[in-house]
Amino acid sequence: MRTDFLRFSAACALALLAAPALAQEDLSKVEIQTDKLSDNVYMMTGSGGNLGVSVGDDGVFLIDDEFAALTPKIQAAIGKLSSKPVKFLLNTHWHFDHTGGNENLGKAGAVIVAQENVRKRLSTDGFIAFLGMKTKAEPPIALPTVTFTRDLSFQMNGEEIRAFHVPRAHTDGDTVVYFVKSDVIHTGDVFFNKLYPFIDTSSGGSVAGVLAAADRVLRMAGDKTKIIPGHGPLASKADLKNYRDMLADVSERVAGQLKQGKKADEIVASKPSTKYDELWGKGFLAPEKFVAMLCGNLKR
Ligand SMILES: [Zn+2]
Repeated sequence: MRTDFLRFSAACALALLAAPALAQEDLSKVEIQTDKLSDNVYMMTGSGGNLGVSVGDDGVFLIDDEFAALTPKIQAAIGKLSSKPVKFLLNTHWHFDHTGGNENLGKAGAVIVAQENVRKRLSTDGFIAFLGMKTKAEPPIALPTVTFTRDLSFQMNGEEIRAFHVPRAHTDGDTVVYFVKSDVIHTGDVFFNKLYPFIDTSSGGSVAGVLAAADRVLRMAGDKTKIIPGHGPLASKADLKNYRDMLADVSERVAGQLKQGKKADEIVASKPSTKYDELWGKGFLAPEKFVAMLCGNLKR
């Protein structure tokens, strides 16, 4: 999205978000941190969604690209691992903090790949209701040119890279990526590790879909699997299980109160997430915002 970042920050403030990563206005100070997860797969963090990178003889496979202003730094960080350019860029979903570098990387020759709904949303003006944020249609060079409906596999750098769609989860276009031999999974934003998650129902997401996606990844993962969440630190299967159980528990409490006819402010005041707030409530969404979001997501 070519949305002015400061304007986003204002929308952010309006939405009372307390996201250190997203509220950060000065991207010039952001450093890209690289963590090696297997012989050829890395996690990178800067500002915005976590990146996944595979390097090797076949070229660079990149998952997500944060913000446009960070492209040179991301390219420099990749350049320390490989002399090859980004061959494939996979967008886990359409949000601006995961696709902001698409235009730059598209111009640099990357083939952009995503679930078909990502292309639909990036190619038209959009609106993220919870953030009160309008987004502009992206130019053609920034759009995915290879799209799929359910799943897609790459044979690259000595392993299968399996991408599969998880329906109506964080949005309607989420993809989870499994590096089979490396035993690394990138979940996109269906998993926020140690941060209350944002679920974008205005982009076709749902709490039930996030829980189903988490369950699917839990069935695939082993105790040694390294899981790159959309936001938050590198995770294990146990971390994902804790997330899944936290989300199921709080959303059940909220749904129960909605069924009794309670209003959103009453539900927020009842503090249904209390026992999780210490661990989960200090990041992207404060506890009240998280519960208010669930009220909106779960009411019919
Ligand atoms: Zn997102």
